[in-house]
Amino acid sequence: MYKELLDRLSREGILAEREYLYLIRHRDEARGYAAKLARKTCEDFYGKRVFIRGLIEFTNYCRNNCYYCGIRAGNAKCERYRLTPDEIVACADSGYELGFRTFVMQGGEDPYYTDEVLCGVIRRIKTNHPDCAVTLSVGERSFESYKLLREAGADRYLLRHETANKAHYEKLHPESMSFDNRQRCIADLKKLGYQVGVGFMVGSPGQTEEDLAHEMIYLKSVSPDMVGIGPFIPHRDTPFKDEAAGSAELTTFLLSLIRLTLPDVLLPATTALGTVDPQGREKGILAGANVLMPNLSPAGVRGKYLLYDNKICTGDEAAACIECLKRRIKTTGCEIVSGRGDRAGKEIQ
Ligand code: SAH
Repeated sequence: MYKELLDRLSREGILAEREYLYLIRHRDEARGYAAKLARKTCEDFYGKRVFIRGLIEFTNYCRNNCYYCGIRAGNAKCERYRLTPDEIVACADSGYELGFRTFVMQGGEDPYYTDEVLCGVIRRIKTNHPDCAVTLSVGERSFESYKLLREAGADRYLLRHETANKAHYEKLHPESMSFDNRQRCIADLKKLGYQVGVGFMVGSPGQTEEDLAHEMIYLKSVSPDMVGIGPFIPHRDTPFKDEAAGSAELTTFLLSLIRLTLPDVLLPATTALGTVDPQGREKGILAGANVLMPNLSPAGVRGKYLLYDNKICTGDEAAACIECLKRRIKTTGCEIVSGRGDRAGKEIQ
């Protein structure tokens, strides 16, 4: 039964929600075949190439209080930092030397970084490196703000929806945050012509298998350019400190289902996946992922951008990180390449 369903998913790119649910429930039997089909689909578009994005975690100040996140405003134990515009630009410059052609500026929702400040940084990076893509991941902002950032040169935006179930969203966030506003942001980003990434945590508190089946239908309807998923991992200073972490097994299976549902999507094997399982990122690639996002943040602040406990690679220099990843990825038969790594068919020269 699972074979029939996976074959049809691979041919048609969609299943009924109850069919996704069946696969999720039978994932232990289905995972091998799902991964095989997903890897093949990935290679039809991208070959054995794995793209890298240089992640610059430029601030851990945040005005929000997401119950799962270690840098939530309410965490008094979090040691806060901000990188100056010069420091952010220097990170991108040194990343360029290491072969990175995409920079992801990620941070908490920090009002210090006004449109003016962010636009200035984006312009400087694009001026220094016109052949690079700039990706932002700075949370919820107004249409007007997203428009200014886009006009300054930002190419892509990552804004995980966190969950496609409104009631579940409300269990993960305080009342000051809303499911509808997050969805509004995603719609605005699409309207403005960003390449948009959405995504969710796997195994977040209260998430059901039914929710995960619904995620696949949601993803198909949004048709994003990128999908970021990773296991939920508890952080000791958050309200979810005693909750169980999501598993690598479920995450990699969902990576395969996402690859088959959105065949040419850009799909990272995340640091969170590498944190719950030492071989997690390799397993993610073998299950159909084709992107890695190593850290370019200066060594001095790396150990402070802690969304969850036991995060890997917080002690390494960027150059060492990329060497380690190259070796790891080789074991999968794939290969890390330099380049912007646009979505297949959407390459910009
Ligand atoms: N402030 C930005 C960036 C958020 S951090 C924004 O709102 O988009 C990037 C992602 O890390 C989040 O979207 C969330 O899905 C994930 N994350 C946060 N806390 C986590 C945890 N405890 N375990 C796993 N992933 C987590």
